[in-house]
Amino acid sequence: MIEKRQFYINGAWVDPIEGRDHPVIDPSTEEPCAIISLGGKADTDAAVAAAKAAFPAWMNTPVEERIALVEKMLEIYKSRTEDLAQAMTMEMGAPIDMSRASQVGAGTWHTSNFIRAAKNFKFIRPLGDHAPNDRIVYEPIGVCAMITPWNWPMNQVTLKVVAAAIAGCTMVLKPSEESPLNAIVFAEIMHDAGFPAGVFNLVNGDGVGVGSQLSSHKDVDMVSFTGSTRAGIAISKAAADTLKRVHLELGGKGANIIFADADDKAVKRGVLHMMNNSGQSCNAPSRMLVQKGVYEKAVETAAEVANSVTVGNAHEAGRHIGPVVNEAQFNKIQGLIQKGIDEGARLVAGGTGRPEGFNRGFFVKPTVFADVTNEMTIAREEIFGPVLSIIPFETEEEAIRIANDTVYGLTNYIQTQDGDKSNRIALQLRSGMVEINGQSRGAGAPFGGMKQSGNGREGGVWGIEDFLEVKSVAGWAAE
Ligand code: NAD
Repeated sequence: MIEKRQFYINGAWVDPIEGRDHPVIDPSTEEPCAIISLGGKADTDAAVAAAKAAFPAWMNTPVEERIALVEKMLEIYKSRTEDLAQAMTMEMGAPIDMSRASQVGAGTWHTSNFIRAAKNFKFIRPLGDHAPNDRIVYEPIGVCAMITPWNWPMNQVTLKVVAAAIAGCTMVLKPSEESPLNAIVFAEIMHDAGFPAGVFNLVNGDGVGVGSQLSSHKDVDMVSFTGSTRAGIAISKAAADTLKRVHLELGGKGANIIFADADDKAVKRGVLHMMNNSGQSCNAPSRMLVQKGVYEKAVETAAEVANSVTVGNAHEAGRHIGPVVNEAQFNKIQGLIQKGIDEGARLVAGGTGRPEGFNRGFFVKPTVFADVTNEMTIAREEIFGPVLSIIPFETEEEAIRIANDTVYGLTNYIQTQDGDKSNRIALQLRSGMVEINGQSRGAGAPFGGMKQSGNGREGGVWGIEDFLEVKSVAGWAAE
C-alpha cells in the first residue's frame, strides 16, 4: 500500500498537523491503493502563510527567471511521464495508454503554450500614442488557492500552477481527494525544478475542509476552481466575505449539432468524443442534435459505434475506455440511465448494469439514447459518464434554440459542410467555445465557459491574464 501522508509546504515535505487518513480507491478493482492525509485548518494556514511570505520576492523575480524555472519544470515533467500516468490510471481509472498520451500530454501541451505566450507577453505597455506618459502594468494578484477535480488531473493542475507561476503569483494547490497521487508527483517535479520555497505549496484535503478553508481564507487573494457547478457556488459564497477573486471552470452539457450536410464521419466522431475518458469531460458533446432526414441513420450509426467501444481494466494497454472514478459517480450514472428509460427516451445501446464480464469495478456500458427531448433529465443534467442523448431537430433556428436551452455554456459543436452556416451559428451559440467539423482548438486558445459553466479563461495568454491585476500608471517618466 502506498502511503503519502505528507504535504509540501514552504519547500519541504512536512507531516500534517491535523491530518486524517483517507483511502484512495482504484476504480478498476474497488480496492484501496493508497493512503493519504486530509489536512485541517492548521495545515491550510501553514501553506497560506508560506505562500504569503514568498510572494514579495517572487513577484519581483524577473519574468525571464520565472519562465526559466517553468522550462526546467517541463523537462522534469516529461521525464516523470510514467509515474504521472501510473498514478492517474490507478486513482481515477484512465486507461494507461490514454494516461501516458492524453492525460500527461495535456500538461506538456499547456505548459509549452504558456511558455510561448509568456515570452511575448508585455507586462508593462503604453496606453497609446495619445497618452505618452501612461503605462498599463500587469501585476500578479497575490496568493492563489487552486482547487482541482479528478477527471483531467494534470490538465487542470498545469493550467493553474504554470500560469500563476509565470504571472508571479504564489499558490496553494488542493487537488481532488479522489486523485491526489499525481499531484504529489507534480509537487516533487516543482521541487526538483528549484522553485523558491513557498511559491508552490500542496495540501491534500476534501471540499468541506481544506477546500472551504482556502475559499474563505483572509490571506488568499484569488481562488481558481475547476469542478462541479455545485462546488463552484459554495466556493463563491465562501469567498464573498473576503471579496477575493473567484475564477470558475465548471460543468457542461455541450450540444453537437449535426446537419443533414455533415461529413460522413460526424456521428462516429461525436460518439467517440462522448465516450472518451468514460464520458468524464466537462466539454463532452453529450447532447447530439440531429437534423431530420439523417436522423434514423445517425441513431443507427451511433448505436453501432457505442457497441464497438470496449470497456476494460485501466491498467491494461489498449484503446478501451476505463471505469468511472468512484462508486458515487457509478451510482449517479446508473440512476440517470434509469431515469432516461423511465422518462421515455429510446435506449439504443448500453443501459444499466455493468458491461458483460464485469462484476467488480466501476464500469459503465457505453450508452446511447435516441428520441430524447431537451426537457428530459438526461438532456438537462451533466451525467459525467459514457451516456449520449440524441435529440432530433428540423431547422437551424430550432437547433440553436435547443443548444442554448441549458444552464451551461462551455463547448458546443457544429457539423455541416456549409461554411457560411457554421460561421453564422458559431456566433449564436452561448458558450465559451465552439468547435466546427471536428477541428480542435489551436495552441494557446482560451478554455472556459459562459453561464453556469463558469467565468475563467485558461490556457495561453488569457490563462496568464487570469492571474494578473491591471494597474494604470499616469506620469510615467520618459525612458
Ligand atoms: P467537485 O466539484 O466535487 O470537486 C472538485 C474539487 O472541489 C475537489 O478538489 C473537491 O475536493 C473540491 N470541493 C468540493 N466541494 C467543495 C467546497 N464546498 N468548497 C471547496 N472545494 C470543494 O467536482 P468533481 O466531481 O471532482 O469533478 C467533476 C466536475 O468538474 C464536473 O462537473 C465537470 O464538468 C467539472 N469540470 C469542469 C472543467 C472545466 O474546465 N469547465 C474541467 C474539468 C471538470
